[in-house]
Amino acid sequence: MSDLTHLTIAAALDGLAAKKFSARELTDAHLSKMAAQKKLNAYITETPDLARAQADASDQRRAAGKAGALDGIPLGIKDLFCTEGVLTTAGSHILDGFKPTYESTVTQKLFDAGAVMLGKLNLDEFAMGSSNKTSYYGNVINPWKRQGDETELVPGGSSGGSAAAVAGRIAMGATGTDTGGSIRQPAALTGTVGIKPTYGRCSRWGIVAFASSLDQAGPIARSVEDCAIMLGAMAGHDPKDSTSVEMAVPDFRKALTGDIRGLKIGIPKEYRVDGMSGEIDALWAKGAEWLKSQGAELKEISLPHTKYALPTYYIIAPAEASSNLARYDGVRFGLRVPGNSLDEMYELTRAAGFGKEVKRRIMIGTYVLSAGYYDAYYLQAQRIRALILKDFTEAFKDVDVILTPSTPSAAFGFHENEDDPVQMYLNDVFTVTVNLAGLPGISVPAGLDGKGLPLGLQLIGRAFDEETLLRTAHVLERSANFTALPAGV
Ligand code: GLN
Repeated sequence: MSDLTHLTIAAALDGLAAKKFSARELTDAHLSKMAAQKKLNAYITETPDLARAQADASDQRRAAGKAGALDGIPLGIKDLFCTEGVLTTAGSHILDGFKPTYESTVTQKLFDAGAVMLGKLNLDEFAMGSSNKTSYYGNVINPWKRQGDETELVPGGSSGGSAAAVAGRIAMGATGTDTGGSIRQPAALTGTVGIKPTYGRCSRWGIVAFASSLDQAGPIARSVEDCAIMLGAMAGHDPKDSTSVEMAVPDFRKALTGDIRGLKIGIPKEYRVDGMSGEIDALWAKGAEWLKSQGAELKEISLPHTKYALPTYYIIAPAEASSNLARYDGVRFGLRVPGNSLDEMYELTRAAGFGKEVKRRIMIGTYVLSAGYYDAYYLQAQRIRALILKDFTEAFKDVDVILTPSTPSAAFGFHENEDDPVQMYLNDVFTVTVNLAGLPGISVPAGLDGKGLPLGLQLIGRAFDEETLLRTAHVLERSANFTALPAGV
């Protein structure tokens, strides 16, 4: 039998239906490869026993004619999703030993569709980062390397474990979360596809909160079709999350018709930023040509408030984070460092439990929310956020989908961008606008740079129009025909 770990989810579902292999065989193939790929450090916790039990149950369901939409498909789960009885860390020391007594809605929905969980995937601490370097559980290694260069590269972040696992063939697909780019940026840096759906499309219930008005769950997989299949299972209204929207979940797979004739594609002129590599600029132009050659119409558009997006994000996200993270006090969850008084216990626990980047965000967040600075920073950022949304609303009167690069650079080394948080924040320059406006965005692998590293293109859609977004992404994917593989998978 050929290596089952290289199949797409769609192909694996066909193979399972045709009884070419069992869910148990598919799971075992992944578990063996996980053992061989430990150096990627993609998983914080592996759950082989649970995976085998779920796979066996899936084989029984299929034999009984009751297979679900993802029955028998082995997935990795970002360790930000609470999983009942399974260690959930958010990549932080402060959640030491935390085993939730409940299941997140998204993971429950995946299990209801028959998915198998291989384990919990590494991430930047509390999803704060773009390199997976802030995890308490160590760096995740990108399976890709520059040609002729053994330097280990970052997989992106914060869903770095998810992206590395999917690219490294140790999960057929993975869940991610995206607050400012954490699904799309790691997907771009690992040659995988990642979609952040519209805010409200998936329930946030049971996902460790970072910035509640920006966080959304979504899939990372190896094709647009696989993302469509996974998103269909993950999405839907949940009475336990009042921000999840009461709307029917379309059949996203059906949206992939291959036909984008007459569709209007916007090219925002403000996304041509200083310092962006010429290769990315060229790929962006190529992407536009591909879509045009398939019958779409290109239109230059303007999103004038783009330049304020990063500063706005880095006020709003830390503000919400500082409030969300107040609950980690040594009393209710995980780590506790005893002190002589209650206050001292709080202080010692938080000092020991949070990493440097998380502390930086909490300090920025409490500062911008403080009485003296609230109007100057937080309120101002909220106003600009509204203007950024208005830019998109105006643009979507003229176009159906917007095409941009996903990131300003390819994957970088662990010591590049070191000690310069602002340089690191620039990774999200093309993605944060989408979260601030609550829109859906997808990154599709579109080519390799001169050093052989994957580059992605981003498509942005109208709110709750993931169907047009996926349809366009599918055409882009076919034109790009990205078939390169990292070495050694
Ligand atoms: N890289 C961004 C940050 O550090 C986005 C993270 C995310 O989307 N979770 O905040």
